[in-house]
Amino acid sequence: MPVMACQRILAGCPASQSQKPETSMPAVIAAACRRARVPAGIRGARLAAGEPVTIRVLVADDQALVRAGIRMLIETQPDLEVVGEAADGMAAVSEVTRSRPDVVLMDVRMPRLDGIEAARQIMALGPDPAKVVMLTTFDVDEYVFDALSAGATGFLLKQARPEELLFGIRATP
Ligand SMILES: [Mg+2]
Repeated sequence: MPVMACQRILAGCPASQSQKPETSMPAVIAAACRRARVPAGIRGARLAAGEPVTIRVLVADDQALVRAGIRMLIETQPDLEVVGEAADGMAAVSEVTRSRPDVVLMDVRMPRLDGIEAARQIMALGPDPAKVVMLTTFDVDEYVFDALSAGATGFLLKQARPEELLFGIRATP
């Protein structure tokens, strides 16, 4: 997918006013929340309903350092919790069944089963499966639309800043 098309999709994200908009955009879902003027995603909805706001996150990436980095970041946040990790798509699907996350951060390129097919299988698990947010880079943008058609809620760029990743998790509808 051409970079220009991707920039159009990402236009309107909060980080677009900051430096390096082409690599620091957070999430399409965050932009959608802002346009719709709804409370910020899962967290906002639970606050409004008077429910506990802890968001359960599954981290699926075949790179151990990526998983560890995201876990360390998330664990600094009182309202977010890592409930599982997966190093490939097959493990991600079974982890969703086991740990019942709210949000799956799903790498696209993983061995055994890629993130897009894993997202498709997670969507088929039941009436209320976890929300899948793809982790991607610009060089694999052609996968983004495949991911969305597979049922992914949105995507986050691996080049995002830490606060943008956290914002994207909380803004997941
Ligand atoms: Mg990978």
